[in-house]
Amino acid sequence: MRKNYLLTPGPTPLPPKVCQAMAQPIIHHRTPQFQAILKETTEGLKYVFCTKCDVFILASSGTGAMEAAVVNLLSMQDTALTVQGGKFGERWTQICKSYGINTEIIDVVWGQAVNPKDIEKKLKENPKIKAVFATLCETSTGVVCDIEAIGRVVKNSDAVLVVDAISGLGAIPLLTDDWSVDMVVCGSQKGLMLPPGLAFISVSAKAWSKVKEAKSPRYYFDLIAAKSALDQTDTPFTPAISLVIALKEALKMMKQDGLENIFARHKKMADATRSAMQALGLELFAPTAGSDVVTAVKVPQGIDGEKLVKTMRDVYGVTIAGGQSELKGKVFRIAHMGYIEESDIILGIACLEKVLAQMGYKFNLGTGVAAAEEVFLK
Ligand SMILES: *Cc1c(COP(=O)(O)O)cnc(C)c1O
Repeated sequence: MRKNYLLTPGPTPLPPKVCQAMAQPIIHHRTPQFQAILKETTEGLKYVFCTKCDVFILASSGTGAMEAAVVNLLSMQDTALTVQGGKFGERWTQICKSYGINTEIIDVVWGQAVNPKDIEKKLKENPKIKAVFATLCETSTGVVCDIEAIGRVVKNSDAVLVVDAISGLGAIPLLTDDWSVDMVVCGSQKGLMLPPGLAFISVSAKAWSKVKEAKSPRYYFDLIAAKSALDQTDTPFTPAISLVIALKEALKMMKQDGLENIFARHKKMADATRSAMQALGLELFAPTAGSDVVTAVKVPQGIDGEKLVKTMRDVYGVTIAGGQSELKGKVFRIAHMGYIEESDIILGIACLEKVLAQMGYKFNLGTGVAAAEEVFLK
């Protein structure tokens, strides 16, 4: 009998109301009952996406929406630009390559954010680029990108801007319409406080013009089919009914809180986490471009990073994330997104301190927690 605490960048903890919503008996989807839910959730998503454009709900993990973006915008032999500064930026490149799309890559040092000028330069050099694929929060490094500035650059070209906001949407600002983002993709299990299983995608007018021409093979993720269905308040296939019902609940909570307050809360959680890490003498992996979504921290010398994460989880029931790919064992990541409050952060830091102390890291016990408390007291 042990409590489990989730401080990972997806899945994130579920509010009790969301859990309860999922426990309801199933209903049929081709009914006025479900149509009302679909209508409400679609409207709620527009609020969270900060858009007036169509937003579609897909039954897949977030990557499904990434694939949907690629296959609906592009054809084989088209050229795309991807920004790679971590594992998820690389995923854009891999999906494009899977569909025979020529991919120009901007490689960014992991831990840093892309310079929008580099995107501008690439677009000028190669007018064939039809789509730019970027990431709002690169979850593998904790870095947040300046999507607003990238939007200004891409807007003046024929290319569309596609943003992976799978971690970040509903946690930090992403003004889809105001920032001229043509497609935003998201998943359910991060900032939106839901279990995994739903993906979302918004489509601007500029993006629709490309969708109509794109010839990549697609069936399940065909957005034209999704649009004809949604125009009738329907879905082309069986939706993940229980998850959509849970989504309704989560969106209602977000509307009640208000996006501004949600963003402020995430910033506070992140500030407290960063401040605690620095007080413990630990180094942030992305000191200048760190997001308010997830904080990546360098594992100090002489400490086994994988063992640290494993001990916190298996001995104390506090799950944080380790490093991925080339960062395996080198960083640990504390997520502070979604249904996370001060007490979760304090608990996570306290557990981290305990395990670090047990592993022989030298610091004054309690300094991390105290630093976080200072931020919360402000
Ligand atoms: C979690 C995540 C993904 C992958 O989403 P899945 O739901 O696992 O397919 C992609 N991009 C980013 C930035 C993420 O954080």
